[in-house]
Amino acid sequence: MLNRFSNEMTRRRFMAASSLMAAAACASPRELFAQEDSLVLNAFKEAATAPITVQTLRRNITVLLGAGGNIAVLTGPDGKLLVDAEIVTARPNVSKAIAAINGDPIKQLINTHWHFDHAGGNDWVHQAGASILAQENTRKHLLKDTWVEGWHYNFLAPPAGAVPSTVFAEDHTLHANNSTLVLKHYLPAHTDSDISVHFTEADVFHTGDTFWNRNYPFIDYSTGGSIDGTIRAAETNIAKVSDKTIVIPGHGAVGAKPDLILFRDVMAGLRDKVAALKKQGKTLAEVLAAKPGARTDQEWGGGFINPTRFVTSVYQGV
Ligand SMILES: [Zn+2]
Repeated sequence: MLNRFSNEMTRRRFMAASSLMAAAACASPRELFAQEDSLVLNAFKEAATAPITVQTLRRNITVLLGAGGNIAVLTGPDGKLLVDAEIVTARPNVSKAIAAINGDPIKQLINTHWHFDHAGGNDWVHQAGASILAQENTRKHLLKDTWVEGWHYNFLAPPAGAVPSTVFAEDHTLHANNSTLVLKHYLPAHTDSDISVHFTEADVFHTGDTFWNRNYPFIDYSTGGSIDGTIRAAETNIAKVSDKTIVIPGHGAVGAKPDLILFRDVMAGLRDKVAALKKQGKTLAEVLAAKPGARTDQEWGGGFINPTRFVTSVYQGV
C-alpha cells in the first residue's frame, strides 16, 4: 500500500517535472519566469524584517549586511558617508543600525550602481541630509522608468531627491573623514553603471555587484550587463587588490582576494560549460537539466539567484 502510494507520488513528480521541462524547452526566459515575477516583490517584503548584521572593518569603516546590497559606512568629523542604501523597505532596520554606530548625521551617499537593492534607500538617505554621488549611468537609469527583463519588473523613476546630484564618467576621487576614496567605473559588467569604491588608507574595497561572495550573481542584460562583462570585472578586481585588502562584495560575506579568485573561477568555469553545451545545439531546458553548476549549486544557489536563474542568464550571454 505504502509502496503503491510512493510509486504514484514518484510518477506524479516525474510527470510534473517532465511538463515543466517541456514548457521550458519552448519558453523564453521571460515566459519561464513569469510565475516568479514576485522575486522583486519578495525582496521588498523580506527586507522589511531582515536583521542587519553590523561588522567593524578597519579604521573608521563599518559594514552593514542585510537582505539587500552591503552598505559601507565611513564615520568621522565630516559626518557619515555611506556606500549604497539598501532596499527601501529596509529603512527602519538600516537607519537604526546606522544610528547605533554614533550620533553623527549622514552627509554623503555613493551608489555603486542603480539597482533597487543598492539605491532603493536614496530618497530617505537624501532626506536625512546626504548628497548623492554616482556614475552617470546610475542617474540616467534613475531618471526614468526602467524595465529589467531578468527580474521581469518595471522600476518606476524614483522621486527627484533619490537621483544623484553629482555624477562622473570614469574616475572620481574624494576626501572625507581623513580618508581618500577612489571611485572607478567598470567596463559594462553587472550593469553599465557599476563602480568600485576603494578606501585607500584602510585598504577596504567595495566592489558593488561585480562580486557576489559565494552567491550566484544577477546579471542585468537590460542595462548593459553580461556574463563576459562579469568575468572581465572579476579579473579587474583581482588585479586591483592586494593580499591585505578587505573586500566588501555587493552580496554575501566580507571577503578577500582568494574569494575574488574563486568567484572568477566559478563564473568562467560555468560560462565555458554552458557555452560548450549551447554550441552543441542544446536548448536552455537541456542545459538546465545537465546541471552545469552541480558543484556549486547548493552553496551558491540558495540566495537571491537560484541555479536555474543563473544558468539561464549565462545561456543568454554565450
Ligand atoms: Zn545589482
